[in-house]
Amino acid sequence: MTRQVSVSQPVLGAQEAACVNDALAKGAISGFFGEYLPMFEHEFAQYCECEFGVATTSGTTAIHLALAALGIGEGDEVLVSTLTNMATFFPVIYQGAIPVPIDIEPDTLNLDPGLLEARITKRTKAIIVVHLFGHPVDMDPVMAVARKHGLLVIEDAAEAHGATYKGRKVGGIGDVGCFSFYANKLITTGEGGMITTNNRACADKARNLRGLAFGDKMKFMHQAIGYNYRMTNLQAALGHAQFGRIEEFIAAKKRLADYYGRRFSELDTLRLPVVKSYARHVYWMYHVVLQGKAADRRVDVMDRLQQRGIETREGFIPFNMQRIFIDRGLTREDECPLANEVALRGFYIPSGTGLTGDELEYVADGVISVLQSL
Ligand SMILES: *Cc1c(COP(=O)(O)O)cnc(C)c1O
Repeated sequence: MTRQVSVSQPVLGAQEAACVNDALAKGAISGFFGEYLPMFEHEFAQYCECEFGVATTSGTTAIHLALAALGIGEGDEVLVSTLTNMATFFPVIYQGAIPVPIDIEPDTLNLDPGLLEARITKRTKAIIVVHLFGHPVDMDPVMAVARKHGLLVIEDAAEAHGATYKGRKVGGIGDVGCFSFYANKLITTGEGGMITTNNRACADKARNLRGLAFGDKMKFMHQAIGYNYRMTNLQAALGHAQFGRIEEFIAAKKRLADYYGRRFSELDTLRLPVVKSYARHVYWMYHVVLQGKAADRRVDVMDRLQQRGIETREGFIPFNMQRIFIDRGLTREDECPLANEVALRGFYIPSGTGLTGDELEYVADGVISVLQSL
């Protein structure tokens, strides 16, 4: 029987069970009551060097809530890194704003800050950067452009819990950080997310909008058109336990990346993840790009790995390649050529923090042997 190695499995243990059971025993299961919610919000925000944390139902709703709380709406233009989960783009559309895709740096795969200024118009209000696969965006030039043009900066840090840029945690560098705690993220609440910020007005607004914008004096006289994006205390209990292990998980990702990096260093058919001098990379997923004689063989490579029980997943398809957006006239396929190239050649290999040394060796052997047999 062939072994099966999946791209990612959450690592959950006794501490997670104890916290969730404690919340259950106290009957504190909703998003309005219970001690785990404020605890998880506070500890995670502090970790991101932020004063405020607002927990949500997902990374997607965290981004939506951030845009709503910052007042980004109808007709506003938002510059967004094109190569990402489309969860970064959808909330811009929910708000009636117009997303403008920005092409990538070919090495980090993050948005190229040098391309921002040319896309700014009178209607531009914000930039959404994405710390892709756990490598921080080069934030200094992004913040300089934002300051010069009076733009807000939202960090989609859904893949980058604990990553740092010049020693500063991501999610606390721009105006608002947005995190996801989906099952395959660095720490998980099953489904969940959080906004981190040092802007009190923004945090208050987000907190109010998250809970249907109930009134202060008269609860059912609502203050705005709100949402129900509340994380439950049960999920926060899980998040609190996971948070206690965040550095353990990041260290496991680093070990995995160092190991793969050593094993693959001689392969001229693979472009490996880079780490810039400004970066602490947390390797949410170990993403590689085929090159040389393997450049156009992705389907084949992924199939052959699957036959060995090694699960892989294609990298993201950029905004400018999505039919749903091209058909609406929001973009053209050739708008971000560098991202397109990676989209067709990139994939990620098993990256779970629970993988054993034996499994890592099995994956590395498989990748090397498949690439050498092309
Ligand atoms: C996972 C992810 C999201 C969305 O988070 P959900 O919790 O799945 O809604 C957004 N952006 C990026 C870059 C992601 O990886």
